[in-house]
Parts: sequence; C-alpha cells; structure tokens
Amino acid sequence: MGAIQGSTFLQTYDLGSNGPGLQEVRRAFEFLDESQWWRQEQMREWQLTKLAPLVAHAARRVPFYRALYGDRASVETWDDFRSLPIVTRAQFADTEPREREASFALPEHKVLHTTYTSGTSGRRLQISITQRLQLWRYACILREWDWLALDPRGDCAILRAPIAPGSDSWNESLGAEVYPTWQGPALGALVRFGKGFNFDIGRPIERIAEALDEIKPAFLHGTPTYLQVLADHLRHCRPLALLTLSEQLFPQVRQELEQRYGARVFDTYAAVEVNRAAADCPSGQGYHLHEENVFVELLDESDREAPPGVPARVVVTSLHNYATPVIRYELGDLAEYAEGACPCGRGLRRISTFHGRQISRFLLENGRVCIATPIVIALQDTPDVRAAQIRQKSYDDFEILVMGRTDFTAEETGDLQRRFDTLLQRPARLTYQFVERIPPLPNGKTPRVVIDFTP
Ligand SMILES: [Zn+2]
Repeated sequence: MGAIQGSTFLQTYDLGSNGPGLQEVRRAFEFLDESQWWRQEQMREWQLTKLAPLVAHAARRVPFYRALYGDRASVETWDDFRSLPIVTRAQFADTEPREREASFALPEHKVLHTTYTSGTSGRRLQISITQRLQLWRYACILREWDWLALDPRGDCAILRAPIAPGSDSWNESLGAEVYPTWQGPALGALVRFGKGFNFDIGRPIERIAEALDEIKPAFLHGTPTYLQVLADHLRHCRPLALLTLSEQLFPQVRQELEQRYGARVFDTYAAVEVNRAAADCPSGQGYHLHEENVFVELLDESDREAPPGVPARVVVTSLHNYATPVIRYELGDLAEYAEGACPCGRGLRRISTFHGRQISRFLLENGRVCIATPIVIALQDTPDVRAAQIRQKSYDDFEILVMGRTDFTAEETGDLQRRFDTLLQRPARLTYQFVERIPPLPNGKTPRVVIDFTP
C-alpha cells in the first residue's frame, strides 16, 4: 500500500477565486483525491448508489431506455444492473436524437451545450453536456494534473483538429487560436493554466513546427501519430510533457516520443459519450479508470467480465449524465485489465492497454505519413454526407466514396481539392463515387481512410 496523503495540487495552484461553481469543483476534486484510495468494495458500493437512480430515471424519462427496459427497470443489486441489455453505437445511432434525451431535467442536469461523437460509421451522435457532467469533468482533469505532477501554468499547444480561421482569438501569423488559459475560462478561473494555442492541423506541418519553435510551449496536446510526425520538423521547441489522446499508444511509440522530445508522455482515454474515462498512473504502470465518473466493464463474448490480460469489449456507463443517459453502452474499443494491484496503492481499477484506435493517415512519397483528420472532418461535415471513405490509390491519386449524396457542387469539390493540395503540398488527383453503401473491408471494418496501393 502506498502512503495515503492529500494532494497538494490545489494548495499550490489554486488562484483563490470564487466564481460560480468553483467551490463545487474544489469539493469534487477533494472527493476524487480521497476516493482514489478506496478499496474496490467501497467503490462498487458508491457506484451502485449512482446507478440505481440513473437507471430509474432513464427508464421513466428517456423513450429509448423505456422501450429497451420496460417499466420494470429497477436496480438494487449488481446482478440487476448486469441484467440490463447492452446498447451498441449502431443501436443508439438508429434512434432519433430526441428519443435518447430525458424529457425533463433538474437544475443541476440542465443542458449547457451539446456535443457530437466523431461518427466512425458516418453517423454522429449528439450528447448533451450538463452542469453536473462539466463539474465531474473538471474534477477529473484536476486529478489528471495532480497525477502528472507538473506545473500547469506552462503554455500548451493543442494539435487536434482543423480550425477555421476568423474567430476573435485567431492569430493569422501563428495559424492558431490563442486563449489566455488553455483549459477554458471556467477552470482557468480556479487554476491558471497557461496560454493555449489551438493550431489548425489542416496547415502544413512545417509551418506549425515553425510557430512552435517560436512560442516554445511547455505542453503539446495531440495524437501520438501527429506528434511523431511533428518531431521531424521541430528544432527549438522542448516541451516538458506530451499530452496524448484519441489513439492507441503503443509502448514503442511512447518510448520513441519520450526519447525524441526528452519529455514525459501522459496519455488519457476519453470518449464523447462519457468524457474522462482513464489516465496514466503516475507509477507508469498502466491507466487508472476515473471510476467516480464512469463505470467501465470489459466484457468477453458471453458478456462476462474478462480476466486481466485478455482484450475485451469496453462497455461504459456515465454515472452523471441525466440528459443523454449512456448506460451499458459499447464504445467499440477493446481494452485489457492489468494484472494485480497497482504499486501506487490507488484502488481505482487499472487498464494495461487500450486497443484499436487508429488515426487516419495518408502515405507520402518520402516514406513519411501525414494526418488525414482535417480532410476526414471536412468530408464528414459536408451537408447530407452520411458516410465517406477515402481510398489512397497512389501517392497522388485518391478515390472518395460518398454515401448520402448523388453529387457534389463545384464549390464543395473545389474546397476539398484545396484541402488535399494544402495538406499534401502537391496537387492531388481526386475522383468521386457516390454510392448506396460503403462496403466493409474483409476484417468487417469500414475505416475512413484506406491505403489501397503498395508503396
Ligand atoms: Zn497506480
């Protein structure tokens, strides 16, 4: 057992301000700081007190769950909970968004805003974010910083998505939006996170590297693949840590990134449907689940909890979302439990590996890759496109399969052409096929980018 001690994170970095809700965030963080040391039985007991009212609420107030569970749904024991049917992403996507929303909400479950999943199958899911969800999200972020144990006041470059220029915070010469505090104004009122530079990753990576060499941020926040490619172009930028997400981080990639940047790598696992789900243990021995935010099950083919070391389906329940309840929901990822107790002494269950998430990429002639995300997102955001797949046929030839439309306007093809040319830094040849459906590959998957030639 490690020594149980209170965190000094807030004592050190708390700005002392008392804006709306900040006291609640402090309390939620203090709770997480204590509950992380609970034994498993205590955590299960606590989770059950959250699951029971959640399921009752969903069965009563959410048409989707009412149809699924009937009106007899009540959870008093873990067996009750485990007898609830598992919901797949496809099942969720086949339902009208309002069928998945609760018909009324208490003040703390008031919807602040809605967000969308990335829609791997081309169908994006709308998830409502409430005040309560935001509170737990903030508390989990603070705990992650406590685990990371680095000064949060350093600047951070965010390298995650294409950004449309033109917002008030847009800085044209950097090609980034610039924020005074990178975790957002609400959490920034509690802890002064450093400046945020949200880069448009649709721009050529050389230009982004030049900007980074100039501003020298303490943290780089992006996918492992993007940071690997970026390392080839940086000269003066020496970050303290790489905050990675969204993609399976293979041990050899982690090691390569640590060596090339001379920086810590801190990986997190989250999903739009449940927000923060897991983060690297400070001991370096796997990921701890944020068990107070999300109940995670790793299930085998017969829906039983898989033993450590066996890849199993990730099924999640958001403990706090009463607006768009997410209950026994299969994310489509695989993960495996780590063996035995964690050397750090925390009771939070531990995952050794999250499998399978891969970032879309194109091959370049120089043997490198470039991240296809900006184009994938542009295609997906084109009106009425239900799904799309880009097949790279040679270094310069791309075949684009589109479902949901019968043609594109000249403006739309012009826009895509410009994005390809900018990203690849040479003219791309694009052909379009408007199809009824996109056939899955022999492995049953329908990826958004397929490399369809042998270099
Ligand atoms: Zn640990």
